[in-house]
Formats: sequence, C-alpha cells, structure tokens
Amino acid sequence: MINVVIFGAPGSGKGTQSAFMIEHYGLYHISTGDVLRDHISRKTELGEIARSYIDKGNLIPDDLMIDILASVIDEHRSDASKGFIFDGFPRTIAQAEAMDKLLADRGMRLNCVVGLDVPDEILIERLVNRGKESGRSDDNPETIRDRIALYYKVTSPLKDYYCRRGLFHSVKGWGDIDLITAGVWKIIDDSK
Ligand code: ATP
Ligand code: MG
Repeated sequence: MINVVIFGAPGSGKGTQSAFMIEHYGLYHISTGDVLRDHISRKTELGEIARSYIDKGNLIPDDLMIDILASVIDEHRSDASKGFIFDGFPRTIAQAEAMDKLLADRGMRLNCVVGLDVPDEILIERLVNRGKESGRSDDNPETIRDRIALYYKVTSPLKDYYCRRGLFHSVKGWGDIDLITAGVWKIIDDSK
C-alpha cells in the first residue's frame, strides 16, 4: 500500500497531479474539497455548514474535518487496496496529528508528502481563470488572496512537520507539465 499526501497552495495543481497518480498507481483519491462540494451540491446538513466557511475562503473546523476524513477512509478502504492519495488534507498541524493517529489505528502509514511549489502570481492567475469556467464560489480575486494568505499562515508550516519525519519532498509545480508529473512519480517511487 502506498499512501501519499499531495500538498500545496490553492491552485498548485493537486487535483491535476492526483488524476495522473490515480491512473498510474491505481490509488484511491480523497479530495476533501471535492467531498465538501459534493455535500454542498446535494444540500446536506454538512454541505450547509461547509458552504458558510468555503464561501469566505475559511477552513472548515478541524474536529469536523477530521471526522469527515475518518469516515471517507473507512467507507473506501476496500476501494483502496493500492493506497490513498490525500488531496487537501491535512491543512493544519492538528489535522496532521490526527491523521497520523487515524492511519496508525488502521495499520496504515504515510509513504510521502509531495509538495507542489508554485509562485503566487501563477497561483492567482490559475485560480482566476478556473473561476471563470468552474463558477466555484471561492475562485474570485478577493477570496483567492485570502485563501493563499491562510495557506502560508496555517498550512505551509506542515512542511516542517513532515520534513522532521523525513516525509516531505517538493517539486517545481509550474512549467512543463510532464516534468512536474515525472518529479511527483519519482518521489513516490523512491518512497516505496
Ligand atoms: P486546489 O486548487 O489545489 O485543489 P483549493 O484550496 O483551491 O486547492 P480545495 O482543496 O478544493 O481547493 O478546498 C476548497 C475549500 O474547502 C477550502 O478553501 C476549505 O474551505 C475547504 N477545505 C478543504 N479541505 C479542507 C481541510 N482539510 N480543512 C479545512 N477546510 C478544508
Ligand atoms: Mg483541488
């Protein structure tokens, strides 16, 4: 089993690289953003709560997010015999700590955390363009800036958290897409 966290700022390409990893390694993809957006579109109770945070570019509270992750893992363990890609989780130190425990309790562990490095100007350009097509409520210029700021404040410290455990590796996340993909796959292959 290979369990990978794909890590990076909003718009860094986590979803794009996840799609290639699903295809190449047969991993099961958990995107917490997709899980939440699915609840919003189905108008569930959780969706209503999630919307109030997402629309403002805020994070969903840790306790709630950790419960959601645990239930998605348990629901899909049989689909994930090759392992999981975690996309959009963890986003805080508390989530990372909870994840370590959650995986250990299930006899699983992380193989690596793959960070996608992309300069802010490129992130903003990508997200503004995505917003024009996706209609995602949080892909508008003001909310994009807030999300990137929040990423630097609460999420990027996770690099140190995982570096200390020898799990963090990053690749240049802009330019030739095939090169980015090759970089991601090399990190995963080396972590087997
Ligand atoms: P990318 O463009 O790289 O996929 P993103 O930040 O634009 O990343 P998502 O990962 O889809 O988008 O997340 C969208 C929103 O969902 C976040 O801004 C946040 O409000 C909420 N969210 C997703 N995952 C988490 C999490 N682990 N903890 C708290 N909130 C989360
Ligand atoms: Mg995404």
